[in-house]
Amino acid sequence: MEKHNTEDNLFDDGGYDAVVVGSGYGGSVAACRMSMAGFKVCLLEKGRKWEARDFPTDSLKIWSAVRMDNRNLGLSFGPKDALFQVHIQDDSLAAMACGLGGGSLINAGVMLPTTVRARRDPKWPKAWDKDWDRYEASASDMLKTQSIPTKFQNSKIMQEVIDKEYDKNDDVPLKLSVNFDMEEQVSKSGRSQENGNCLACGNCLAGCPYNAKNSTDKTYLVSAIQAGCTINTECEVQYVIKNKDESCKQEQRYKTRSRRRWLVFLNEFDYIESDIVILSAGVFGTAKILFQSQLRGLPVSQKLGSGLSCNGNNVALIAESSAPLNASGLNRKQFSNIPFQERPGPSISSSYTSSLGFTIQSAVIPTAYPCFLFKGITTNGYQSTNWFFLDIIDRLKHIVGSKRNQAMVLNAMGYDSNNGKLTFEKDTNRIMFQPP
Ligand SMILES: Cc1cc2nc3c(=O)[nH]c(=O)nc-3n(C[C@H](O)[C@H](O)[C@H](O)COP(=O)(O)OP(=O)(O)OC[C@H]3O[C@@H](n4cnc5c(N)ncnc54)[C@H](O)[C@@H]3O)c2cc1C
Repeated sequence: MEKHNTEDNLFDDGGYDAVVVGSGYGGSVAACRMSMAGFKVCLLEKGRKWEARDFPTDSLKIWSAVRMDNRNLGLSFGPKDALFQVHIQDDSLAAMACGLGGGSLINAGVMLPTTVRARRDPKWPKAWDKDWDRYEASASDMLKTQSIPTKFQNSKIMQEVIDKEYDKNDDVPLKLSVNFDMEEQVSKSGRSQENGNCLACGNCLAGCPYNAKNSTDKTYLVSAIQAGCTINTECEVQYVIKNKDESCKQEQRYKTRSRRRWLVFLNEFDYIESDIVILSAGVFGTAKILFQSQLRGLPVSQKLGSGLSCNGNNVALIAESSAPLNASGLNRKQFSNIPFQERPGPSISSSYTSSLGFTIQSAVIPTAYPCFLFKGITTNGYQSTNWFFLDIIDRLKHIVGSKRNQAMVLNAMGYDSNNGKLTFEKDTNRIMFQPP
């Protein structure tokens, strides 16, 4: 994919109709659709472009791709534009991605149909409801979502549990934005792609090393560039202010430029002019830009920082199960002798949503994840405080070829009360969070 990353490109052309900040789902869709509609669009992304070969595939390599901000220990380390941005505060952990593609680089690519409950939420404009299905189908088409071609071991176990516990299971089959039939697709369309086929290695959550995930850098952003969008990576937006006469006078060197309504600052001196600014830098990133803009005089809602929701995410590690779960990621050497259907599978290959509203998904732990990245882990038969040691024992057993395949992660999501809070610490320029 072509990349535009020079300052000349950024500043020397009279500003933009729209500047989009961030390249996750929010930013990529906005940049793509506006470029296709004929707007002159510039997308700015803090992180770098990640190639499949760059994604960490073992627990040593992952440390060069992590930035950890631990408020409890007062400790921050790792590159500022690391792929994984991990914030630990009190008993909570927030993990997000940084790179061209945002969260889509390291997520599981699950696309669940929007629940009726979410669609009817009065926070959404009423007019949206009638077009919801059409837009969902369009997103699914763009992200090339596919059903999982086989039932992997951990899905079978999940299914057994669900069948035992519940009379009927109305769940629709899970779809992922992952290529399972690439060879077929390529031969049908005649396209030569940089995309690959899923090898069921279970490493999606550390970035797909085989190019099988349809992250936004391979989908929406390709279309955005084709429609003329300028994309700049390694470009962190600091704040946004209205383009008033006073602020223009201060910067003589930009006098010849056409006037646009907003100034998007990358540092205290350099800015880009735009008529529309879309802040889609994720929850933390967007809040930080707004707080910093507020400090420079931008009037913002009093509600800024309130209403934080976390879906009540909770992660549980099941270890020492009597059934083989095959839910630890494998590297190419480890899985090449194992038939496809006996491999771990994609990170999430089964998902169950109860009528009470919570969802449980079975997940595979990537080879690269260090065990202590998870919070709130409980283990089968062990006290939850011993999870760290249990995982180490489990890893050792795996090295000597025994029981690592008897562990898996369950991801449970519910609804929280949306009353979490984000605040901004001026002295350190950091976002603090208080989950619901
Ligand atoms: C491990 C994991 C698994 C997940 N699995 C799924 C799943 O299977 N299905 C699903 O639907 N959702 C999943 N999610 C959630 C989903 O990935 C996020 O909801 C989604 O990525 C949010 O999109 P976004 O565009 O709002 O922000 P993000 O994807 O977070 O993108 C924001 C981007 O903005 C950039 N940015 C931040 N600050 C600045 C700045 N100042 N200037 C410029 N750029 C900036 C960041 O680097 C980032 O690239 C998962 C999330 C995680 C962490």
